Amino acid sequence: MYNNNIEFIVTIRVWCASKVWNLIVRKSMELNFNGLNSIKPSHSSEMEFVKVIIIGSGPAGLAAALYTARADLNPVVLAGMELGGQVSLTHLVENYPGFPDGVGGSELVELFQKQAEKFGARIEFDSAIQVNLDQQPFEVVTYNKVYKAATIIIATGAAALNLNIPGEKEFTGKGVSYCGTCDGWFFKDKEVIVVGGGDCALEEGIFLTRYAKHVTIVHRRKTFRAGTLLQKRAKENPKISFLNNTILTEILGEDIVKEVKLKNVVTGEEWRQQIDGIFVFIGHAPNTKLFEGKLNLTKDNYIVTDSSMKTNVEGVFVAGEAADPIYRQVVTSVGMGAAAGMQAIHYLQEYALQDQVK
Ligand SMILES: Cc1cc2nc3c(=O)[nH]c(=O)nc-3n(C[C@H](O)[C@H](O)[C@H](O)COP(=O)(O)OP(=O)(O)OC[C@H]3O[C@@H](n4cnc5c(N)ncnc54)[C@H](O)[C@@H]3O)c2cc1C
Repeated sequence: MYNNNIEFIVTIRVWCASKVWNLIVRKSMELNFNGLNSIKPSHSSEMEFVKVIIIGSGPAGLAAALYTARADLNPVVLAGMELGGQVSLTHLVENYPGFPDGVGGSELVELFQKQAEKFGARIEFDSAIQVNLDQQPFEVVTYNKVYKAATIIIATGAAALNLNIPGEKEFTGKGVSYCGTCDGWFFKDKEVIVVGGGDCALEEGIFLTRYAKHVTIVHRRKTFRAGTLLQKRAKENPKISFLNNTILTEILGEDIVKEVKLKNVVTGEEWRQQIDGIFVFIGHAPNTKLFEGKLNLTKDNYIVTDSSMKTNVEGVFVAGEAADPIYRQVVTSVGMGAAAGMQAIHYLQEYALQDQVK
């Protein structure tokens, strides 16, 4: 097997060195994870040890909660400012499998929540304000306490982008909105503009025709990113008209929005239009500021992952729109959440296995 004694000795030394190294690594893990398997959820006002903490209560976070709860890991879900995430803001979801007649956004996430809670997930109405990923157990600081966690699943999703034009900030909540379901009712028989060209913009534009007298969809490009079926529905809706190749340059008013300045980006023509409300649906940015300098992020600030939902820190997983600039759907976020949950379970099982081996 070995050509000479030297090769044999070298092989033995390498083998021993790797064993010693493994032992050192394992011992340091054991030290850090000391008592991990006996962790029971504790309720101190300052600190709590948990096996799994999920940051975010959108579809991804709640799917991860369901999977880890069913593995008896008693996950804690930090709900953040938006229980149920973005989809809870929409009135109807027609593309989530299992609901042939569609389902309300908030109804769907309520079902997700109920199912996860049934198996032992705990939702906390709290937000992560700081994380320490340098050593095990990881640390997640919230407004109410410090969680020491063996694994973290990040599901912080994304948030609406702003137009960043004069008047937008000033009139937010006074005619400028980012949620048709929340604010549509206030625009009964009014003239509104919807800004954007994706699924959200068209979906919300169609929804707003329930209330508004007329909806103008303003899109900076010639063609829409939205799905063909949605485009067809919007175009067939008699209450909707379109302004393509057009941007908003300023929002004007007194106490509330009264007028908007528009510009055709092809011809350069500028004009003013009287308007009662402006709904902005121009995209989202991932909520990943908390992880800057702590995890690898893409240039657009999405958390870098692969199909295993792992991040560059072992034991920290990510799911949903925080890591997905492409699909950005409930069904895909749920899938990523389930995968992250399964990976977290596997990760913790590995440690249980090591404990048995020692
Ligand atoms: C108006 C609208 C309509 C939509 N319609 C559809 C549709 O019909 N079909 C479809 O498939 N998709 C739709 N989407 C997209 C869908 O909502 C998203 O793809 C999905 O919600 C993403 O899920 P997520 O769990 O990754 O993140 P999100 O839903 O963004 O949830 C993020 C969660 O993280 C929490 N969070 C953030 N920061 C922190 C923190 N520091 N600490 C604790 N928690 C934190 C938030 O409170 C929230 O609970 C729509 C989106 C919008 C805005």
